[in-house]
Amino acid sequence: MPRLTTDGWLETATPHLRLRYYPQSAAARDIDQVAVVAEKAYARANTVIPANGPLMVTIYLAPRVFWQGGVTYDGNTILLTYADRNYAGVELWAYLVHELVHALAGHYVHRGSEVGGLLGEGVAVYTTSGHYGVEPIQQWAAALSASNQYIPLCTLRTAWDTQQHEVAYLEGASFVDYLIRTYGSERFLQFYAHVPSPPPALRDRNLWCRNQGDLPVSGVGRPYSQLETEWRAWLQQQRPQPVDQAALQAQIRLYDLVRQYQQQRDPAARILPPPPNQWNARLHTLFAAPAITPTAVLQEAMFVAAKRNLDQHQVAQTNAILDELTGSIATNTFTGTFGLAYRGIQAALDEQAAAVRLHDRQRYQQVTLLGGPSWPGALYTDYRWTINAITLNPNAAIAEATLQAQGALPATNVPYRITLRQIPGRWQIATAEQVAVDLSLPPQSKDIAQRNGVLWPFPE
Ligand SMILES: [Zn+2]
Repeated sequence: MPRLTTDGWLETATPHLRLRYYPQSAAARDIDQVAVVAEKAYARANTVIPANGPLMVTIYLAPRVFWQGGVTYDGNTILLTYADRNYAGVELWAYLVHELVHALAGHYVHRGSEVGGLLGEGVAVYTTSGHYGVEPIQQWAAALSASNQYIPLCTLRTAWDTQQHEVAYLEGASFVDYLIRTYGSERFLQFYAHVPSPPPALRDRNLWCRNQGDLPVSGVGRPYSQLETEWRAWLQQQRPQPVDQAALQAQIRLYDLVRQYQQQRDPAARILPPPPNQWNARLHTLFAAPAITPTAVLQEAMFVAAKRNLDQHQVAQTNAILDELTGSIATNTFTGTFGLAYRGIQAALDEQAAAVRLHDRQRYQQVTLLGGPSWPGALYTDYRWTINAITLNPNAAIAEATLQAQGALPATNVPYRITLRQIPGRWQIATAEQVAVDLSLPPQSKDIAQRNGVLWPFPE
């Protein structure tokens, strides 16, 4: 049974973790599965970064996206996004592995060493087998290294925060993977735990890079500059492919646009808050809900579709969605093929919900395909759909939506899969079925995870 903390979070404990979440949130609904995945993610993180003695990590699950959706604080505390519509496109296991690596590293790495930045983020992305899910790290890094977007390692070490985000994280992960492949994890860990971080105010970065670059580093016993040369020569042997370059460019474009959306349309998502046990009422309010305007919901659902297409190597389709989203975020309207279909689908679900609330059977039947979901008949004071994702097919669509209802059969964040058909001028609902949440790792990702040198511990 969860316990209620003094500041209003529910808490469920596992052997290594305290999971905290808001009552009635998606996390509260799924907490049993979340707890299982979280312990597996802890085990995964622990295979790369050994735990220095017993450790209890507190993980807060917030039902909204902020930045990329995960942050680790000092003092064994993590804040994660757990939302039904995660427009950052990261699954729970990936957030957990990444942030738990940071939490474990905080204890493992020597004071004054490079816990964050290049190696810290690199080892987190490496252990997850990708930044936003499972990604072909070395193929993408090979394409990057052959391009003019490559950032020298010492620039990343000395000015991490001002570099292109996806490029910086990818280089870190690829470099860490290369070191572990070449020197073994024991020597890598010695290197990681001791390599000094640059002084905070660096007036002459080039001088520091030259001096540091020539010093042999502990563990691997070679200077940083030589490691960088060897690593890039190895990347060249991986034969970078145009298809990897195109996928990487689409990922960079996607997340540049996510950040732009946050700045323009979801400003709460640009807040990097203090640890949740220090939140005031305003922060609780901001983090307790996602953006809810109909336009924001659809733009976020389009981001979800773009990420899914990218994951399925549909780069052209990803870019087509991003083209429309770019215009939509600028104008806050929908004019393209995707946007107009999304609007039509949202209108159909809103119409059906209004018919239920008003107990208007005729109106209900107009938005329902013949043989579709039967008239509920019972009275509801509230009945609302929220769209989380849409898959478009010719003249048909699948909407993933959650239902809130007060009345005959109350519902709180109940997930549904709704199929729709397009008829001239509008959409009709063909089926609506409640679905179970499944937090397991998509099986098709396992291949790439193993090619990245990571043996995935999740059962099939
Ligand atoms: Zn990180």
